Amino acid sequence: MIIPKESRLTDEQLAEVNSIVEAYHCKVQPIVGHHRTIYAVLGEERETIMVNRILGLDYIDRFDAVDSPFKLMAIQSELAHHQITIGKVIVGQMPTIIAGHCTIDPKNPNYFLESAHAVKEAGATALRGGVWKPRTMPYSFQGDDSSMKILIEAREQTGLPVDTEVMDEYQLQIAVEAGVDILQVGARNALNYSLLKKIGEMTADKPIKVLLKRSIGMGPVNEFIAAAEYIAAAGNPDVMFCPRGTQPTMDGYRNYPDESITPLLKEKSWAPVIVDPSHSVGRAKYVPSASLAAMAYGADGVIVETHSNPKLGIGDDPKQSLTPDVLKKLIEDIHAIWEIRKRYKVTKAQLV
Ligand code: PEP
Ligand code: MN
Repeated sequence: MIIPKESRLTDEQLAEVNSIVEAYHCKVQPIVGHHRTIYAVLGEERETIMVNRILGLDYIDRFDAVDSPFKLMAIQSELAHHQITIGKVIVGQMPTIIAGHCTIDPKNPNYFLESAHAVKEAGATALRGGVWKPRTMPYSFQGDDSSMKILIEAREQTGLPVDTEVMDEYQLQIAVEAGVDILQVGARNALNYSLLKKIGEMTADKPIKVLLKRSIGMGPVNEFIAAAEYIAAAGNPDVMFCPRGTQPTMDGYRNYPDESITPLLKEKSWAPVIVDPSHSVGRAKYVPSASLAAMAYGADGVIVETHSNPKLGIGDDPKQSLTPDVLKKLIEDIHAIWEIRKRYKVTKAQLV
């Protein structure tokens, strides 16, 4: 934004300003006020040489660049009204609940199919199921390509959109070819910029959404938004933020619960926030209250590990998974909080 010393630029001055910004593929848009006119610069207005040349003109007072470095994910961006649809839900218009196994057990496909029907019955919007898993120990079960068939079979049987994590290009290729609806980027890969770019490129122009977890060590909110910007800039703006707990841990919980960053994300970005309380607190008994807290903080939904018989699960399921009957109650309470929240609603228009 260019602010002249006088109340407006003369025609000659405006022509000179125009010739400078055009050399940097920008345009000037006068914003005519009652007392003075200011001039918005459309395009990459933070180009240093251009800014310095404008500031060098003796009739210019200031040049204020939009302070958000995010062209696509920022709440001021042209995508501010972009909507993401998952199955029957426009995210943000009603609670979005993604539920299902941490890990699909390829030896027992029926467990996953049974849980898929149960989470649908409980009211879930989409089904999660880990085909490949990032495991701390290299000897632990790492997932299996064959689980993709089970995931897709569950989608066919239930009609629920499906979510799975991809950790590399090989898995990405398989998941995109299978038409997975939501690609999860895990906490370990949220700062893997080459993977983020590849995901953006390979899902551009496809109806595939990306659920971007918050990296375990991610600090500033901007670092999280920048990671999402990588995916959007590479071609796919359908990105949702997923706080899932950070380090250091809080004594007793698996990670440090971070659902409270939701309002901060929402102040800076238009993108939906789907909180993962399962990996945050790490125990099924704490998951309902952590989910409700996330909703109270303004989340658009939650992703919760759920298994029809957690004891028979693998990966995180025995310790973290809710049973479908608890999920059902939780979804009812999430809807109740959704209604209560309307009493305090800050609209997007107020934020922009
Ligand atoms: C998961 O969702 O099962 C998972 C491994 O998540 P995170 O990347 O948050 O650890
Ligand atoms: Mn898990």
